[in-house]
Amino acid sequence: MGDLSGYKGGALRLLRDAGASIGDVIEIRTDFGTVTGTLVPRYLYGDGEHVVLKLKSGYNVGLGLSGLAKAKVLSKGEKPSFSPPASPRAAKGLPRVLILGTGGTIASRVDYRTGAVSPAVTAAELDSLVPELSEIAKVQPELLFEVFSENMTPQHWTRLAKRAAKAVGEKFDGVVITHGTDTLGYSAAALSFALAGIPIPVILVGSQRSSDRPSSDAPLNLVAAVTVAAEGSFSGVYVAMHLGESDDKVAFHGGTRVRKNHTSRRDAFSSIGVPLAAVFGRSGLEHVAEGLPARGGSFKPRPKFDGRVALLKFYPSMPGGLVRAARRSGVKAIVIEGTGLGHVSREVSSELGRFVKAGGLAFMTSQCINGRVDLSVYDTGRDLLHVGVQPLEDMLSETALVKAMWVLGTGASGSKARELMASNVAGEITARTFPG
Ligand code: ASP
Repeated sequence: MGDLSGYKGGALRLLRDAGASIGDVIEIRTDFGTVTGTLVPRYLYGDGEHVVLKLKSGYNVGLGLSGLAKAKVLSKGEKPSFSPPASPRAAKGLPRVLILGTGGTIASRVDYRTGAVSPAVTAAELDSLVPELSEIAKVQPELLFEVFSENMTPQHWTRLAKRAAKAVGEKFDGVVITHGTDTLGYSAAALSFALAGIPIPVILVGSQRSSDRPSSDAPLNLVAAVTVAAEGSFSGVYVAMHLGESDDKVAFHGGTRVRKNHTSRRDAFSSIGVPLAAVFGRSGLEHVAEGLPARGGSFKPRPKFDGRVALLKFYPSMPGGLVRAARRSGVKAIVIEGTGLGHVSREVSSELGRFVKAGGLAFMTSQCINGRVDLSVYDTGRDLLHVGVQPLEDMLSETALVKAMWVLGTGASGSKARELMASNVAGEITARTFPG
């Protein structure tokens, strides 16, 4: 019997009876019509009622089988190995896009024995897993590193920023960065500051489901990211992820205003406090927000970060000792995520005051996610202002952390650092709270 990895139940019986193996081109006939494609392996924990085919377009479809489904082998194929062929040579004259691989689920596959997801796909392999890419642009894939994004550090951001900045001199039309989703928002913010004013689009893209699974969001997200990097009319740093649960639209979020808000859904990312930068659909770019920076212009990257910043979330009964511990650990700045308009207990407020007195920088954001901090409404807020805690308007907490690392990385300190934190460098502070 041929290899039918991952198949079980009715699906396995159907395929076995037809003499099919992984890699064969088969035709499945169900009550809903006939579909032809290459049989791909199934995820170990998948059910027994679906067969997964890779269509000619490169998309995978999972076909639900009714009792009457029929399967026919059209041609025998080789079991797809995980070293796909070199990507087809892109036609001359297409825009040039640099794809930088960093790891994460988008560059992972399921181990069919254990069901675990491990990083294994290089940027080059991704390019060949999604054949459409070479029709959109002449892509140059490069693997920068291979980490799940929870292991990213400011050093990784610096390497990424330097490589993306170099791409401008190398006359690339755009850069795509494949990245784990967990800290995608942090890296997007880091690059937004380090590459402020970059004349080309830099698109960070991830996926919630690995690229070898039928429900993967990787192919569409990649197609959208490469299209915008190649021919989008705007520049700057954006995150591209599914807009909704169905596999038909991709949202582009501004790099300093984006957040992962769901652990598993494909549409886990949202723009906070600003409209979407752009939407990509089946017919290409369907919507582009007004006021995005056009391509072109000169810029100077500032890719350094100083990681000595802490992000603390205030909670009822938080001991002031946690602020002291941060100070003792050598941090130069603390971003405190307060309640509501930006409040903490009296105890934490006085500890922050001591930290500022000792030369530290203290910044306030809100754990409300939406809206803006305002320390002038209640006494608690006025006390915080009095001890030197600086409110950060509607900046997201994660963005504030990254920005403080970047500000310190520029060499700014004291009032210079405060000034830079208060000024809008890359869309991180909005003038008006959206919507309304
Ligand atoms: N933990 C993974 C990461 O962030 C999850 C993902 O890629 O979606 O790298």
